[in-house]
Amino acid sequence: MKREETDVLIVGLGPVGAALAVYLGSSGVSTIAIERDTGVYPLPRAAHLDHETMRLLHLAGGAEAVAKASQPLSAYEFRNGAGELLMGFRPEGDLAPTGWPTSSMFHQPTLEDALRARLAKIPCVSVRLGHALSTYEENGGGIVATVAGPDVAHEIAARLIVGCDGGNSVVRRVAGIALDDLGFDEPWLVIDTRLKNGVERLSTIGLQHCDPARPVTSMPMSPGRHRWEFMLMPGETAEDVMSDARLAAMLAPFADPASLDIERRAVYRFHALIARQWRKGHTLLAGDAAHQMPPFMGQGLCSGTRDAANLAWKIEAVLRGRANESLLDSYQAEREPHVRMITEMAVAMGKVVCTQDAEAARLRDENMLATPEAARRSAMPGLDGLKSGVLPGGGAVFPEPWLPTGARLDDLVRYAPILIVRDECEASAAFGDRGGFVARAGFFADSHGDLAALMGDAAAVLVRPDRHVFGVGATATLVAAWNAYLASGVAKAEAIAAA
Ligand SMILES: Cc1cc2nc3c(=O)[nH]c(=O)nc-3n(C[C@H](O)[C@H](O)[C@H](O)COP(=O)(O)OP(=O)(O)OC[C@H]3O[C@@H](n4cnc5c(N)ncnc54)[C@H](O)[C@@H]3O)c2cc1C
Repeated sequence: MKREETDVLIVGLGPVGAALAVYLGSSGVSTIAIERDTGVYPLPRAAHLDHETMRLLHLAGGAEAVAKASQPLSAYEFRNGAGELLMGFRPEGDLAPTGWPTSSMFHQPTLEDALRARLAKIPCVSVRLGHALSTYEENGGGIVATVAGPDVAHEIAARLIVGCDGGNSVVRRVAGIALDDLGFDEPWLVIDTRLKNGVERLSTIGLQHCDPARPVTSMPMSPGRHRWEFMLMPGETAEDVMSDARLAAMLAPFADPASLDIERRAVYRFHALIARQWRKGHTLLAGDAAHQMPPFMGQGLCSGTRDAANLAWKIEAVLRGRANESLLDSYQAEREPHVRMITEMAVAMGKVVCTQDAEAARLRDENMLATPEAARRSAMPGLDGLKSGVLPGGGAVFPEPWLPTGARLDDLVRYAPILIVRDECEASAAFGDRGGFVARAGFFADSHGDLAALMGDAAAVLVRPDRHVFGVGATATLVAAWNAYLASGVAKAEAIAAA
């Protein structure tokens, strides 16, 4: 059987596999990405991206196309069957400190096309569409995979395999990795529509109609598109609700069906599942292969993108011998608590929405409406920063520093660690020599004072490639702690910082 060799084999070229392939490829890591299908996934999926994810996708070359074809969400509201507000969230300001809108409503295929276009320009990444992983084996120093292509099966030997192959991950199954079930399993019909006659939007508000008679979600998507999701009621099947006539009847209370073209439709079961191991030997899992959450926070793809951004530089450092393999274990340690927190929030929101028992809904409403309306409104919930893999005081998402030209620092640096110093010194030169990007604080416009507030009196701030602040302090200490972290994981880095 024909055999090829590569450093990393990515299985699945959904958005997470594609973002990971760009990050690895832009770091010069030889990568083969195989994808079972020949086109991007045709059914409705992600419609919302948060600002942190837009920034990470910008580093992967995917955000510009999305930004052109997206619109900000002005509010996210949960209303009961009578239309009363149960809870509502609003973004604060036009742009988040990352330089992107707090919430962008978009069309997932636009993103996937943009990432694939970027990949096509990266020579060390080879994309194989129409190639499916059949199975693989560990072979000491790596893995050997059997891949079924359009013609014959062949083997790919790789030092690492990353399963980005979605909820039914073959990689996860072959690796024998079990899932933790957080107790959510609800069937929903999802309908993506195109608005006729040049209408750009029906609303800029995302709405959860928490009506026990039929919970319904209404979401703007990219301009010219709108999504509805209808919960299936007990006894209903996918076949019952998929006909044109049923869709029109379900849409009628919300919009004139004649003003819409139905573009895509699907019935999904929304789950809350987290893989117990995200790394096992030479296997890693990312995106839906590692975790699935109900879409009430719009965070599945966002979380998968964070996985890719957390993982790629660690893989590169390990493959180049700059880091111990144990650095790969920090991936799950850093990412899983974040995913678990978001999944639990999404499940809690889902339980508010998915109440189908009229008496339970009445009690829910009574309880929530007892709070004055002003207190039921709040800012969009912020997400935690990193709790490990950073020095004490680090972990926050780095606010985007703008250049005097109006460009973003991210335009200049892309996916690499960044050291911002007051004054250049030996330690900063050494950091630059090892592939880090070094800039002086005075180089930035910093018109909102975010960088000044972050640095305080410190000499430097070191930012991880995934744009979490690694630490703020003396330049030499930060650089030594970063090198120690790469070499042996978080514990030693913290020890250096504490010394
Ligand atoms: C209705 C709905 C709404 C959602 N809304 C949001 C939202 O608003 N915001 C958000 O962030 N997330 C949302 N999500 C979640 C988001 O769509 C997913 O988290 C995201 O698509 C996962 O990306 P992925 O790359 O991990 O997996 P996938 O997109 O599933 O990609 C996996 C890829 O692997 C390929 N593959 C599978 N097996 C093999 C194999 N053996 N060999 C080769 N290739 C293989 C598949 O063909 C597929 O292309 C939503 C999901 C749903 C269902």
